Amino acid sequence: MQYLSNILFVAILVLGIGFFAKNVSKLRRNILLGKDVDVSDDTQKRWRNMVRIALGQSKMVVRPIAGFLHVIVYVGFIIINIEVLEIIIDGIFGIHRIFAGLGPIYDFLIASFEILALLVIVSVVVFWTRRNIIKLKRFFKPEMSGWPKKDGNLILYIEFVLMILFLTMNAADLSLQELGAEHYEQAGSFPVSQYISNWFSGMDISSLIFLERTAWWLHIVGILFFLNYLYYSKHLHILLAFPNTYYGKLGPKGKFRNLEAVTKEVKLMMDPEADPFSAPAEDVDADEPSKFGASDVMDLSWVQLLNAYTCTECGRCTSECPANQTGKKLSPRKIMMDTRTAWKK
Ligand code: SF4
Repeated sequence: MQYLSNILFVAILVLGIGFFAKNVSKLRRNILLGKDVDVSDDTQKRWRNMVRIALGQSKMVVRPIAGFLHVIVYVGFIIINIEVLEIIIDGIFGIHRIFAGLGPIYDFLIASFEILALLVIVSVVVFWTRRNIIKLKRFFKPEMSGWPKKDGNLILYIEFVLMILFLTMNAADLSLQELGAEHYEQAGSFPVSQYISNWFSGMDISSLIFLERTAWWLHIVGILFFLNYLYYSKHLHILLAFPNTYYGKLGPKGKFRNLEAVTKEVKLMMDPEADPFSAPAEDVDADEPSKFGASDVMDLSWVQLLNAYTCTECGRCTSECPANQTGKKLSPRKIMMDTRTAWKK
Protein backbone atom coordinates (compact mmCIF):
# COMPACT_ATOMS: atom_id res chain seq x y z
CA MET A 1 0.00 0.00 0.00
CA GLN A 2 2.88 2.30 0.89
CA TYR A 3 4.51 1.66 -2.50
CA LEU A 4 1.21 2.16 -4.29
CA SER A 5 1.03 5.79 -3.17
CA ASN A 6 4.70 6.32 -4.13
CA ILE A 7 4.05 4.91 -7.60
CA LEU A 8 0.92 7.03 -7.97
CA PHE A 9 2.87 10.10 -6.90
CA VAL A 10 5.69 9.45 -9.39
CA ALA A 11 3.14 8.84 -12.18
CA ILE A 12 1.35 12.14 -11.46
CA LEU A 13 4.69 13.96 -11.22
CA VAL A 14 5.97 12.55 -14.53
CA LEU A 15 2.65 13.34 -16.22
CA GLY A 16 2.56 16.89 -14.86
CA ILE A 17 6.18 17.72 -15.65
CA GLY A 18 6.06 15.86 -19.00
CA PHE A 19 3.02 17.82 -20.20
CA PHE A 20 4.65 21.05 -19.06
CA ALA A 21 7.89 20.18 -20.92
CA LYS A 22 5.85 19.46 -24.08
CA ASN A 23 4.19 22.88 -23.90
CA VAL A 24 7.53 24.59 -23.21
CA SER A 25 8.97 23.06 -26.38
CA LYS A 26 5.87 24.24 -28.33
CA LEU A 27 6.38 27.70 -26.89
CA ARG A 28 10.05 27.71 -27.85
CA ARG A 29 9.18 26.61 -31.38
CA ASN A 30 6.57 29.37 -31.71
CA ILE A 31 8.94 32.07 -30.49
CA LEU A 32 11.70 30.92 -32.81
CA LEU A 33 9.33 31.27 -35.78
CA GLY A 34 10.04 35.00 -35.51
CA LYS A 35 12.64 36.76 -37.62
CA ASP A 36 16.18 36.48 -36.44
CA VAL A 37 17.70 39.37 -34.52
CA ASP A 38 21.15 39.79 -33.03
CA VAL A 39 21.05 40.14 -29.23
CA SER A 40 24.51 38.85 -28.49
CA ASP A 41 25.90 42.26 -27.46
CA ASP A 42 26.88 43.30 -23.91
CA THR A 43 25.95 40.08 -22.12
CA GLN A 44 27.08 41.53 -18.78
CA LYS A 45 24.55 44.34 -18.99
CA ARG A 46 21.88 41.84 -20.05
CA TRP A 47 22.53 39.66 -16.97
CA ARG A 48 22.46 42.75 -14.76
CA ASN A 49 19.12 43.83 -16.23
CA MET A 50 17.67 40.38 -15.72
CA VAL A 51 18.75 40.22 -12.08
CA ARG A 52 17.57 43.77 -11.39
CA ILE A 53 14.22 43.71 -13.18
CA ALA A 54 13.04 40.08 -13.18
CA LEU A 55 14.64 38.80 -10.00
CA GLY A 56 14.72 42.07 -8.06
CA GLN A 57 11.29 43.09 -9.40
CA SER A 58 12.54 46.70 -9.59
CA LYS A 59 9.63 47.81 -11.79
CA MET A 60 7.14 46.63 -9.23
CA VAL A 61 8.47 48.76 -6.43
CA VAL A 62 7.97 51.92 -8.51
CA ARG A 63 4.28 51.71 -7.55
CA PRO A 64 4.49 51.19 -3.77
CA ILE A 65 1.16 49.49 -2.92
CA ALA A 66 0.67 47.28 -5.97
CA GLY A 67 4.44 46.79 -5.99
CA PHE A 68 4.58 45.60 -2.38
CA LEU A 69 1.72 43.16 -2.90
CA HIS A 70 3.29 41.84 -6.12
CA VAL A 71 6.65 41.41 -4.40
CA ILE A 72 4.97 39.33 -1.68
CA VAL A 73 3.24 37.08 -4.21
CA TYR A 74 6.47 36.82 -6.17
CA VAL A 75 8.72 36.05 -3.18
CA GLY A 76 6.08 33.58 -1.99
CA PHE A 77 6.25 31.91 -5.39
CA ILE A 78 10.07 31.65 -5.27
CA ILE A 79 10.40 30.51 -1.65
CA ILE A 80 7.53 28.08 -1.81
CA ASN A 81 9.64 26.07 -4.26
CA ILE A 82 11.78 24.84 -1.34
CA GLU A 83 8.63 23.48 0.23
CA VAL A 84 7.61 21.92 -3.11
CA LEU A 85 11.02 20.25 -3.28
CA GLU A 86 10.41 18.70 0.13
CA ILE A 87 6.97 17.47 -0.95
CA ILE A 88 8.44 15.92 -4.10
CA ILE A 89 11.21 14.08 -2.20
CA ASP A 90 8.74 12.94 0.46
CA GLY A 91 6.31 11.75 -2.21
CA ILE A 92 8.88 9.80 -4.19
CA PHE A 93 10.48 8.05 -1.21
CA GLY A 94 7.40 7.77 0.99
CA ILE A 95 8.86 9.76 3.88
CA HIS A 96 7.57 12.65 5.92
CA ARG A 97 9.25 16.07 6.04
CA ILE A 98 12.72 15.10 4.78
CA PHE A 99 14.21 18.50 5.68
CA ALA A 100 13.05 18.31 9.32
CA GLY A 101 16.62 17.28 10.25
CA LEU A 102 17.72 20.87 9.56
CA GLY A 103 16.34 21.74 13.01
CA PRO A 104 16.11 25.49 13.68
CA ILE A 105 16.68 26.29 9.99
CA TYR A 106 13.70 24.11 9.15
CA ASP A 107 11.61 25.85 11.82
CA PHE A 108 12.58 29.19 10.32
CA LEU A 109 11.76 28.05 6.78
CA ILE A 110 8.34 26.64 7.67
CA ALA A 111 7.52 29.77 9.70
CA SER A 112 8.50 32.01 6.73
CA PHE A 113 6.43 29.89 4.32
CA GLU A 114 3.43 30.27 6.58
CA ILE A 115 3.80 34.04 6.95
CA LEU A 116 4.27 34.36 3.19
CA ALA A 117 1.25 32.13 2.58
CA LEU A 118 -0.86 34.42 4.78
CA LEU A 119 0.47 37.52 2.99
CA VAL A 120 -0.23 35.89 -0.37
CA ILE A 121 -3.83 35.29 0.75
CA VAL A 122 -4.16 38.96 1.76
CA SER A 123 -2.59 40.13 -1.54
CA VAL A 124 -4.84 37.86 -3.57
CA VAL A 125 -7.92 39.25 -1.81
CA VAL A 126 -6.74 42.82 -2.53
CA PHE A 127 -6.09 41.98 -6.21
CA TRP A 128 -9.48 40.30 -6.50
CA THR A 129 -11.18 43.33 -4.93
CA ARG A 130 -9.32 45.67 -7.28
CA ARG A 131 -10.53 43.65 -10.27
CA ASN A 132 -14.07 42.83 -9.24
CA ILE A 133 -15.26 45.42 -6.72
CA ILE A 134 -13.26 48.60 -7.41
CA LYS A 135 -13.26 47.65 -11.11
CA LEU A 136 -10.08 49.41 -12.20
CA LYS A 137 -10.79 50.95 -15.61
CA ARG A 138 -7.85 49.35 -17.35
CA PHE A 139 -9.21 45.87 -16.56
CA PHE A 140 -12.48 46.68 -18.30
CA LYS A 141 -11.45 47.54 -21.85
CA PRO A 142 -13.13 45.64 -24.74
CA GLU A 143 -10.18 43.23 -25.15
CA MET A 144 -10.52 42.16 -21.51
CA SER A 145 -13.80 40.32 -21.86
CA GLY A 146 -14.17 36.53 -22.11
CA TRP A 147 -11.11 34.40 -21.39
CA PRO A 148 -8.69 37.24 -20.41
CA LYS A 149 -11.14 38.35 -17.71
CA LYS A 150 -11.66 34.79 -16.46
CA ASP A 151 -7.91 34.12 -16.57
CA GLY A 152 -7.17 37.11 -14.33
CA ASN A 153 -9.57 35.82 -11.67
CA LEU A 154 -8.82 32.13 -12.08
CA ILE A 155 -5.17 32.52 -11.15
CA LEU A 156 -6.20 34.38 -7.99
CA TYR A 157 -8.56 31.54 -7.02
CA ILE A 158 -5.85 28.93 -7.66
CA GLU A 159 -3.29 30.81 -5.53
CA PHE A 160 -5.85 31.27 -2.76
CA VAL A 161 -6.79 27.58 -2.70
CA LEU A 162 -3.13 26.46 -2.82
CA MET A 163 -2.27 28.61 0.20
CA ILE A 164 -5.32 27.40 2.15
CA LEU A 165 -4.36 23.79 1.41
CA PHE A 166 -0.79 24.45 2.55
CA LEU A 167 -1.94 25.96 5.84
CA THR A 168 -4.53 23.19 6.40
CA MET A 169 -1.86 20.55 5.78
CA ASN A 170 0.43 22.18 8.36
CA ALA A 171 -2.38 22.68 10.87
CA ALA A 172 -3.35 18.99 10.70
CA ASP A 173 0.34 18.03 10.91
CA LEU A 174 0.77 20.16 14.04
CA SER A 175 -2.26 18.53 15.66
CA LEU A 176 -0.80 15.09 14.85
CA GLN A 177 2.58 16.12 16.29
CA GLU A 178 0.89 17.23 19.49
CA LEU A 179 -0.98 13.93 19.72
CA GLY A 180 2.31 12.05 19.22
CA ALA A 181 1.07 10.24 16.09
CA GLU A 182 3.46 7.78 14.45
CA HIS A 183 5.64 9.37 11.65
CA TYR A 184 4.63 12.88 12.80
CA GLU A 185 7.64 13.84 14.91
CA GLN A 186 7.98 17.37 16.28
CA ALA A 187 9.25 19.49 13.36
CA GLY A 188 8.65 22.99 12.10
CA SER A 189 7.28 26.17 13.53
CA PHE A 190 3.70 27.10 12.65
CA PRO A 191 2.96 30.76 13.45
CA VAL A 192 -0.18 30.84 11.26
CA SER A 193 -1.54 27.31 11.10
CA GLN A 194 -1.38 26.92 14.90
CA TYR A 195 -4.58 28.99 14.98
CA ILE A 196 -6.22 26.77 12.36
CA SER A 197 -5.16 23.65 14.26
CA ASN A 198 -7.33 24.84 17.19
CA TRP A 199 -10.34 24.09 15.00
CA PHE A 200 -9.22 20.46 14.76
CA SER A 201 -9.09 19.82 18.49
CA GLY A 202 -11.24 16.85 19.31
CA MET A 203 -10.52 15.08 16.02
CA ASP A 204 -8.99 11.61 16.32
CA ILE A 205 -5.64 10.61 14.80
CA SER A 206 -7.05 8.78 11.77
CA SER A 207 -9.31 11.73 10.82
CA LEU A 208 -6.36 14.11 11.18
CA ILE A 209 -4.15 11.88 9.03
CA PHE A 210 -6.90 11.78 6.40
CA LEU A 211 -7.15 15.59 6.51
CA GLU A 212 -3.38 16.10 6.37
CA ARG A 213 -2.90 13.61 3.50
CA THR A 214 -5.84 15.05 1.52
CA ALA A 215 -4.45 18.60 1.84
CA TRP A 216 -0.94 17.30 0.96
CA TRP A 217 -2.13 15.53 -2.21
CA LEU A 218 -4.42 18.34 -3.35
CA HIS A 219 -1.62 20.84 -2.73
CA ILE A 220 0.94 19.07 -4.91
CA VAL A 221 -1.59 18.15 -7.63
CA GLY A 222 -2.73 21.79 -7.54
CA ILE A 223 0.85 22.99 -8.00
CA LEU A 224 1.31 20.71 -11.03
CA PHE A 225 -1.99 21.96 -12.42
CA PHE A 226 -0.84 25.55 -11.84
CA LEU A 227 2.43 24.83 -13.65
CA ASN A 228 0.58 23.54 -16.69
CA TYR A 229 -2.05 26.23 -16.57
CA LEU A 230 0.65 28.88 -17.08
CA TYR A 231 1.00 27.99 -20.77
CA TYR A 232 -2.65 28.87 -21.39
CA SER A 233 -2.58 32.00 -19.30
CA LYS A 234 -1.15 35.52 -19.27
CA HIS A 235 0.77 34.31 -16.23
CA LEU A 236 3.45 32.89 -18.49
CA HIS A 237 5.31 36.04 -17.47
CA ILE A 238 6.21 34.32 -14.18
CA LEU A 239 8.63 32.20 -16.24
CA LEU A 240 9.29 34.36 -19.30
CA ALA A 241 10.14 37.52 -17.35
CA PHE A 242 13.69 36.15 -17.08
CA PRO A 243 14.55 35.64 -20.78
CA ASN A 244 12.44 38.66 -21.70
CA THR A 245 14.43 41.04 -19.51
CA TYR A 246 17.69 39.42 -20.64
CA TYR A 247 16.88 40.04 -24.30
CA GLY A 248 15.37 43.50 -23.67
CA LYS A 249 16.58 46.67 -25.38
CA LEU A 250 19.83 48.03 -23.99
CA GLY A 251 19.67 51.46 -25.63
CA PRO A 252 17.85 54.54 -24.31
CA LYS A 253 14.08 54.19 -23.83
CA GLY A 254 12.02 55.18 -26.85
CA LYS A 255 14.97 55.24 -29.23
CA PHE A 256 13.94 54.05 -32.67
CA ARG A 257 16.06 51.97 -34.97
CA ASN A 258 16.21 53.74 -38.32
CA LEU A 259 15.55 51.75 -41.46
CA GLU A 260 18.63 52.09 -43.60
CA ALA A 261 16.69 52.47 -46.85
CA VAL A 262 14.46 55.22 -45.41
CA THR A 263 17.45 57.08 -43.90
CA LYS A 264 19.15 57.02 -47.28
CA GLU A 265 16.07 58.38 -49.06
CA VAL A 266 15.68 61.20 -46.54
CA LYS A 267 19.37 62.12 -46.80
CA LEU A 268 19.01 62.19 -50.55
CA MET A 269 16.02 64.53 -50.31
CA MET A 270 17.78 66.85 -47.88
CA ASP A 271 20.95 67.12 -49.94
CA PRO A 272 20.55 69.86 -52.62
CA GLU A 273 23.68 68.57 -54.39
CA ALA A 274 22.40 65.02 -54.71
CA ASP A 275 21.17 63.76 -58.05
CA PRO A 276 18.90 60.73 -57.46
CA PHE A 277 19.07 59.78 -61.15
CA SER A 278 22.83 59.61 -61.21
CA ALA A 279 22.93 56.20 -59.47
CA PRO A 280 23.64 53.27 -61.77
CA ALA A 281 20.60 51.09 -62.61
CA GLU A 282 21.96 47.98 -60.82
CA ASP A 283 22.26 49.94 -57.55
CA VAL A 284 18.55 50.78 -57.67
CA ASP A 285 17.74 47.05 -57.71
CA ALA A 286 20.12 46.38 -54.83
CA ASP A 287 18.47 49.09 -52.73
CA GLU A 288 14.99 47.57 -52.84
CA PRO A 289 13.59 48.76 -49.49
CA SER A 290 12.73 46.20 -46.87
CA LYS A 291 9.14 46.05 -45.64
CA PHE A 292 8.25 49.02 -43.48
CA GLY A 293 6.66 48.09 -40.13
CA ALA A 294 4.77 44.87 -39.46
CA SER A 295 1.44 43.90 -40.95
CA ASP A 296 1.31 40.40 -39.47
CA VAL A 297 3.03 38.23 -36.88
CA MET A 298 5.34 36.85 -39.55
CA ASP A 299 6.96 40.30 -39.75
CA LEU A 300 7.98 40.25 -36.09
CA SER A 301 11.30 39.17 -34.64
CA TRP A 302 11.53 36.34 -32.12
CA VAL A 303 12.29 38.88 -29.38
CA GLN A 304 9.01 40.68 -30.19
CA LEU A 305 7.16 37.36 -30.02
CA LEU A 306 8.82 36.68 -26.66
CA ASN A 307 7.60 40.14 -25.53
CA ALA A 308 4.06 39.23 -26.51
CA TYR A 309 4.16 35.95 -24.58
CA THR A 310 5.47 37.84 -21.54
CA CYS A 311 2.76 40.51 -21.57
CA THR A 312 0.83 40.44 -18.28
CA GLU A 313 -2.21 42.19 -19.80
CA CYS A 314 -1.91 44.85 -17.10
CA GLY A 315 -3.16 47.42 -19.62
CA ARG A 316 -0.84 50.22 -18.52
CA CYS A 317 0.41 50.71 -22.09
CA THR A 318 -3.18 51.07 -23.31
CA SER A 319 -4.20 53.48 -20.56
CA GLU A 320 -1.12 55.64 -21.32
CA CYS A 321 -1.61 55.47 -25.10
CA PRO A 322 -2.61 58.95 -26.41
CA ALA A 323 -4.63 57.44 -29.28
CA ASN A 324 -6.57 55.19 -26.90
CA GLN A 325 -7.18 58.12 -24.55
CA THR A 326 -8.97 59.98 -27.33
CA GLY A 327 -11.39 57.08 -27.70
CA LYS A 328 -9.72 55.41 -30.69
CA LYS A 329 -9.71 51.64 -30.92
CA LEU A 330 -5.90 51.36 -30.84
CA SER A 331 -4.76 49.29 -27.88
CA PRO A 332 -1.10 48.24 -27.52
CA ARG A 333 -2.22 45.53 -25.09
CA LYS A 334 -4.62 44.10 -27.71
CA ILE A 335 -1.75 43.95 -30.22
CA MET A 336 0.29 41.93 -27.72
CA MET A 337 -2.65 39.65 -26.94
CA ASP A 338 -3.46 39.06 -30.62
CA THR A 339 0.18 38.35 -31.45
CA ARG A 340 0.27 35.70 -28.75
CA THR A 341 -3.04 34.17 -29.82
CA ALA A 342 -1.93 34.06 -33.46
CA TRP A 343 1.06 31.88 -32.64
CA LYS A 344 -0.43 29.81 -29.83
CA LYS A 345 -1.61 26.93 -31.97
S1 SF4 B 1 2.57 45.29 -23.04
FE1 SF4 B 1 1.11 46.62 -22.00
S2 SF4 B 1 -0.38 45.24 -21.12
FE2 SF4 B 1 1.42 44.02 -21.62
S3 SF4 B 1 2.63 44.03 -19.74
FE3 SF4 B 1 3.38 45.70 -20.99
S4 SF4 B 1 2.25 47.49 -20.28
FE4 SF4 B 1 1.15 45.68 -19.53
